[in-house]
Amino acid sequence: MAETIETVIQGTNCTKPSAIKRPYRLVDIIQETPSVKTFKFVSESGELMDFAPGQFVQIGYSSDGSKIDVQRPYSIGSAPKADELEFYIEMIGGKLTSILDKSKIGDIYNISSPNGKNFEYKAGLSKKSLFIAAATGIAPFISMLRYIEQNHVSEDIVVLYSVRTKADIIRASELAEFERKGIAKIVITLTREQDSTSWKGEIGHIDRGKLDRYVPDIKERVVYLCGSNKFNSDMTELLKSCGLPGDKDHIKHDVWGGH
Ligand SMILES: Cc1cc2nc3c(=O)[nH]c(=O)nc-3n(C[C@H](O)[C@H](O)[C@H](O)COP(=O)(O)OP(=O)(O)OC[C@H]3O[C@@H](n4cnc5c(N)ncnc54)[C@H](O)[C@@H]3O)c2cc1C
Repeated sequence: MAETIETVIQGTNCTKPSAIKRPYRLVDIIQETPSVKTFKFVSESGELMDFAPGQFVQIGYSSDGSKIDVQRPYSIGSAPKADELEFYIEMIGGKLTSILDKSKIGDIYNISSPNGKNFEYKAGLSKKSLFIAAATGIAPFISMLRYIEQNHVSEDIVVLYSVRTKADIIRASELAEFERKGIAKIVITLTREQDSTSWKGEIGHIDRGKLDRYVPDIKERVVYLCGSNKFNSDMTELLKSCGLPGDKDHIKHDVWGGH
């Protein structure tokens, strides 16, 4: 049965009227990690979407080509003005992810206009930022880092990225390149790595010790947080315990439910 035209913005209690939707064709599917697939879409009309780094869209599926059966919000990983819209989506066997998992190149989905103004990255807002992500929560930061590189934005950026194992790191080589090119300091921490001999980076959850080591100047930074409800609330408490005010000028949230 088709879901209501009102879309629940997951991880929040708000509903928003559906935005304008346009058909997009699936042009590439990549097995990014054992549980995450990268999906690339192009607009059927050839029009480029005007969005800011950090924003999300609704991806909708229609079995009969008219009414949308199911739609969910996803953060855009591409930089603005890219030819393709890129998404990193964990295959959890839910309503939409089950459909996406069986998708083929050429399938058509409906994609809404962009949303999420409060999480968009604005160059010049701060001289220093801290991006904190868990799992697929890295998606909006990939968009931001690509934008920062393409536009030669000069800002001191540290990325703290928490994933279960080394195999779960999304866009691992691109993140390493951002670090090599001096776009951002990238700190990846593995929360469930068994074989620590093959990993030279950080292990365990993001905690006070890691913040002290990598961002001793945290009070000078605008923090962008992206992950599950629990991750964002744990991180907010941690940041507040470091003396960072919890208001939206200091901590920006993108929360998307789940675990
Ligand atoms: C602004 C925003 C941006 C988002 N961006 C992304 C993104 O870039 N990539 C992405 O993968 N997801 C993203 N999500 C989550 C996405 O919208 C869906 O919730 C998710 O893909 C599950 O949809 P579904 O229809 O398959 O599952 P549903 O049929 O809706 O069932 C989901 C059920 O699984 C639980 N669940 C949700 N996420 C997980 C998880 N990771 N592991 C286990 N259980 C889970 C939910 O609590 C719920 O009970 C975003 C959400 C928001 C609000």
